[in-house]
Parts: sequence; structure tokens; C-alpha cells
Amino acid sequence: MNTMLEAALNQIKDTSVILEEDYSDKKRFKKAIDAVLTPQRIVKGKISIKGKDSKKKVFQAFRIEHNDARGPFKGGIRFHQNVSEDEVRALATLMSLKCAVAGIPYGGGKGGIIVDPSKLTSEELKNLSIEYAKLIAPYIGPWKDVPAPDVNTDGQIMSWMLETYEKKIGMQAPATFTGKPLELGGSLGRTEATGQGGVYVLEAYAKVKKINIKTSTVAVQGFGNVGFYFASIAKQLGFKVVAVSDSSTGIYNPKGLDIETLGEFKEKGRSFKDYPLKSGTKLITNGKLLELPVTFLVPAALENSITKENMEKISAEAVIEMANGPTTTEADVYLHEKGVDVIPDILANSGGVTVSYFEWVQNLDGYYWTKERVNEELRKTITKAFLDIDKIVKEKRISYRRAANYLSIKRIIDAMMLRGRV
Ligand code: NAD
Repeated sequence: MNTMLEAALNQIKDTSVILEEDYSDKKRFKKAIDAVLTPQRIVKGKISIKGKDSKKKVFQAFRIEHNDARGPFKGGIRFHQNVSEDEVRALATLMSLKCAVAGIPYGGGKGGIIVDPSKLTSEELKNLSIEYAKLIAPYIGPWKDVPAPDVNTDGQIMSWMLETYEKKIGMQAPATFTGKPLELGGSLGRTEATGQGGVYVLEAYAKVKKINIKTSTVAVQGFGNVGFYFASIAKQLGFKVVAVSDSSTGIYNPKGLDIETLGEFKEKGRSFKDYPLKSGTKLITNGKLLELPVTFLVPAALENSITKENMEKISAEAVIEMANGPTTTEADVYLHEKGVDVIPDILANSGGVTVSYFEWVQNLDGYYWTKERVNEELRKTITKAFLDIDKIVKEKRISYRRAANYLSIKRIIDAMMLRGRV
């Protein structure tokens, strides 16, 4: 079993210990937990395309549907050489928890193909996407399973898959995929949704903790889609963003950074190590960025950036996990004991899947929202999700991560019980 799957299953087992108290029928509860530990369906198969040299190329593909007690399965499709069945299963499981935490009516799913897409021509990539859509077509649909882009997949790939699916069923069904281009029914606000949602969570956290935004400092690791929009929107709201980084280096100015100019520089495809520094701004390593004495540390790049090795040097007052899995279990326990709140990824970065849900709603309605409406609905949904978890943190005196796991698994189990599945 791979470590990501082991970690996901351990989180569920760990949470079941506190959750069990809420259920008088222990046998039924155990059955429910066993169901949450197991995906409902594993679709896997080999798909073949004709390569540019006319030779057949064969790829292993997966779609794993974890649990649909709360609504249709929902989750991205990843094209990567390291995809494995265990990884897809772990990600599908985490999607069930994330949708339940966000309070959106979906279960979790995930798909993937073991492929290095950088080695494919654009024709091969298109054909691979079409063949994958044919493989999963019997299992997907607006009220069954709704895929979306993930690592190395995008709106173009969703468009090819949508066309393949619609041809097969003989009708339009845009709500089958999210993350589509605007021309095919995508939603305004989706591009910045994850960063935007994270900032709404940050605002809600600052409010309950009575932290003054104007005097708060923020360090953001990673300056891609999530890191850039998070930093930019946080700055617009008055937070002082003092450090950001890409994979080459970090940039630090205790008086605050000009995020828009840094964004324009990155748009040209350049690295921060070549950034023309103005007085007061200096380069720092990614390691040092994580140790800065800021109010909020925001890992928005990779998994496992806060670990046993650097946990004792973390000086932030709180950590907002915008990347998936940036804190190892050991570091998470250590920070909680030290009194540093870690706002978990399944809540902090749920803005992306929440706006995907809004895309689906708009597709089903055939009526499209303004960006202002998307952001207002996102603010309402994610702030409620935060406050629901904050209530459990206070009631049960547990960490935000345990509270988020508790709430999400409880919501899934309750839906399964109502349906009489367990
Ligand atoms: P991205 O590829 O756009 O950006 C990643 C950023 O991380 C880049 O700036 C890159 O330079 C930086 N980076 C890479 N290696 C680094 C290193 N060793 N040290 C410091 N920085 C490094 O990716 P993204 O879409 O912004 O996603 C970032 C994280 O957020 C991932 O964990 C992803 O799974 C998660 N996430 C993304 C979304 C979304 O909507 N994009 C939604 C939920 C979660």
C-alpha cells in the first residue's frame, strides 16, 4: 500500500475513535467505517492509441469512485507517470472528505492514467483523452460521477472528453465535467477559486481569533495558480504579504511585497532567482521562508514541506494549508501541541471544488452567474464550512484537522445510514 493511501485510511481510523461516541449501535457504526475505508467501484483498463509512428501505445487507466452517499462522485483526472491504483484510491477517498467538509452535495472520485504527457504529441494527447472518456463513459454523468482536471489535465482535455461522452449518449450533458473552458459552460471565477476560497477561510479564522488583518503578516510558499491568487487577494484585503517563493528561491521584504509585479514577472516564465531586487527586498531559501516569524504561513506548493526536520523552527502563529498534504502527521501533532493552529487542506483549499460545484449547478440550470455572484456564493459556502469546524474545535477541544475529519466522516456515515446502506 502506498504511503498516501495509508495516511488517508489512518486518518479515517483515527477519527473513528472520537466519532464512535456519537453512535449507540456500535456494530452498525463499525460497518459504516468499513464502508468509508473502501471505494464503491474501481474502473480500470488498458487504453491504446496509435502513436505518431503508427505503432500502438498502451496505457493503464483508472477511475475510482469512493462513496456517493452524499451525491454524485466528484474528482479530477490526473495524467502522470507516477499514477498508481493506490494513489487514485487515496485521492478519491480524500475527495469524499473534502466535499463533505465543504458541505457540497458530492461524494469523492478520482481518475488517472499512467503516462508522461510531455512525451506525447498533441494528437496523441487528444486521442488518449478520447479513449479514456470512452472507458469511463458508462460510469460518469451529471448525476453519477463528475470528473474535472487535475495534474497535467486542463479545460482542453475536458472539452475532448465532453465531446466523446455526448456523442456516446446522443445529447448535450455539460454538467458531466467541470473545469471546462467558458465557451463550453465553464464558470467565471474558477481560475482563482482555490486561492480566493483560502483567503475567505483566512479572514474567517482571523475574525474568530480576533487577529487584526492590517497588522498580520503572511508568507506563501509556492507562486503558481494557488499561491499567486492567495497572495494577491490577501494583499488586496489588507494582509501584509512579506514572503513568496517558487521552486528556485524565496523573496522577502518585512515591509510587504508588490504581488502584482511579482505575478507579471512570473507570467513571463521567469524564476524568482533572477528577479531584480529593490532595496529592502532580499532572497531567502524556501527553507528559511517556512521559518519566518509571520502571523500566517501558507504552504501552497508541494506535499510534505513541514516535517519532523523543520517543525521545531516554525515560528508562524497559524498555518493555512493551501497545497495538498503539506504537513506530515508528526509535524501536525507537534504544532497542535505547541498551540499553532493548522487549517487543514481539505477545508482551506476546498474553494476549487466548491466553484466546480457552482459550474455544475449553472450547467444544470442553463443559466450563468456573474463573477461577483460566484465569489459571494463561495464566501458563504466556505465561511460556513469553516465555522462548522471551528464549533467542533471548541466543543471537543481538538485540532482543526481532527475536527474537519470528524465532521466530514460523520456527514458521510449519516448519509449512508439514512439510505439504509449500513
Ligand atoms: P502550480 O503548478 O500552478 O504551482 C506550484 C508552485 O509551487 C509553483 O510556483 C512552483 O514553482 C512551486 N514549487 C514547486 N516546487 C517547489 C519547491 N520545492 N519549493 C517551493 N516551491 C515550489 O500548482 P497549483 O495549482 O498552484 O497547486 C499547488 C498546490 O495546491 C498543490 O499541492 C495542489 O495539489 C494544490 N491544490 C490546487 C488546486 C487548484 O485549484 N489548482 C486545488 C486544490 C489543491
